[in-house]
Amino acid sequence: MAQNFLTQRFESLARVFREGEAGDSAYIIESGRVEISLLRDGTKVVLAELGPGDLFGEMALINDDARSATATALEESVVAVIHRDQLDAAMESADPVIKLFLRVLLERFHEASDRLHGHRGKTRRSMPDSAAYQDDLTRTVQNLHLREELQHALERREFALFYQPIVELASGRLAGYEALIRWHHPTRGLVGPFEFIGFAEKHGLIGPIGGWVMQEACAAAQRLQAAWPAGEDPAPFITLNVSAQQLLEEGFLDLAEACLDRSGVDPQRIKFEVTESLLMHDPEVAAELLAQAKSLGVRLALDDFGTGYSSLSYLHRYPFDTLKIDRSFVLTMTRNSGSMEIVRCILGMSRGLLLDVVAEGIESEEELALLRELDCTYGQGYHFARPLPEAEAFALAPR
Ligand code: C2E
Ligand code: CA
Ligand code: CA
Repeated sequence: MAQNFLTQRFESLARVFREGEAGDSAYIIESGRVEISLLRDGTKVVLAELGPGDLFGEMALINDDARSATATALEESVVAVIHRDQLDAAMESADPVIKLFLRVLLERFHEASDRLHGHRGKTRRSMPDSAAYQDDLTRTVQNLHLREELQHALERREFALFYQPIVELASGRLAGYEALIRWHHPTRGLVGPFEFIGFAEKHGLIGPIGGWVMQEACAAAQRLQAAWPAGEDPAPFITLNVSAQQLLEEGFLDLAEACLDRSGVDPQRIKFEVTESLLMHDPEVAAELLAQAKSLGVRLALDDFGTGYSSLSYLHRYPFDTLKIDRSFVLTMTRNSGSMEIVRCILGMSRGLLLDVVAEGIESEEELALLRELDCTYGQGYHFARPLPEAEAFALAPR
């Protein structure tokens, strides 16, 4: 641990710090010996003699009181210096549960110390004001609950997929559906993905949840395909969201292959949507993983295009079939000529790269008319339908 910190060398009999001084660092001895002493009525009292691995001066990390003792090197000594800011930064990025425990321990320590010294510590630090502390506490407890509830939600079959139609704009034909996860929470009712997908990604739960989505979406696509009249247009495809973390997890491809096999669906009818965050993580690894996914026979879409680092110039490096223009462009396109030009440009380039384009979030006739005029092939949005439970959504498909 000590090598992460700045080290300082002290000659024999040099002072590391003196009683009564202000301090903002603690020290860990790497080599040598350090004496801790104080003056009582003009006489030196030695409190301790410390050696390698020992920590001293740590009170400076906890409160703003002056040094209560003097530290002197007894021989040439090397110490690692832990500055308050480093501790604060480490605390900030710590696991919330560890952070909470440290705070509680610190609070208890201060209370005990106050009782011992018969006063409230005038200069304690790192103590959050009580409102912020309560908020933190509440959030930590809520997160612990959420984590546990999410772990049980799969076994209790509380998740469901809703399906939102994707429409061919020129003809109005239903081309496919996007599968969007919902959580039938036992007390909160229907909970949307923004409230738990990001959390699941952060806490290592996206693997199992994403696996369930994959299995369920493939099975639904097979139900749709089986009910489809022979000799007609192909059955609508199902597109599902795959988080970058999920795709990067070991075993993802095996899982995808198993889901496709087990369901018996034609892989061509399945599409995986990924966002640019995957490509930003490591472009080479992303290209390799996408190529492997593609070799399963599924199609690939780049989701939320335009919100990330969005450069059309790198798209040819990845085996995408579809590009989804983010809702924010559709939303502003009718009022803002800049947005419209971006959409026009994305459409032009996509044609050159032989990519299908889906415009997301179409809410009005006006937006639809403009996208048709720009020759955008597919669209999705509340104007056509909201995400619906399977039975309702699939009933929209012509039979
Ligand atoms: P997304 O992939 O961009 O999905 C589209 C979102 O836009 C959906 O929100 C959909 O309900 C909403 N939407 C569609 N049309 C309109 C419209 O006309 N107007 C407006 N205002 N919104 C529209 P939803 O279902 O809340 O999903 C939010 C996000 O959660 C999704 O964004 C996706 O990133 C994520 N998500 C959903 N399901 C899954 C899943 O199964 N796995 C993973 N990893 N992420 C998922
Ligand atoms: Ca999506
Ligand atoms: Ca999207």
